[in-house]
Amino acid sequence: MKAVFYGGVGKVSVESPDDPVLLHDDDAIVRVTAASICGTDVRFYWGTMSSLVGLQPGTALGHEFVGVIEETQSAYRGRIGAFFVPFAWNRGLV
Ligand SMILES: [Zn+2]
Repeated sequence: MKAVFYGGVGKVSVESPDDPVLLHDDDAIVRVTAASICGTDVRFYWGTMSSLVGLQPGTALGHEFVGVIEETQSAYRGRIGAFFVPFAWNRGLV
């Protein structure tokens, strides 16, 4: 797995983070099948938005993606194998 990490204004890096872990009853792990760069990510890179949201170096970027649910905890409402599209207001269930 690869991810893009914010390193400060004008700095990003592609790294291989640890595998995700389910921590809470309503967590799920999603295998990302497609992703893109959002204008928000570009503004973080430029430094015109990172201070507004308190973005810290070491934060993984990228919130524009789709994928497939691979693993869930007991309280998660989605089913394994379902297509996943994230929306901040409804937790991404489709
Ligand atoms: Zn976006």
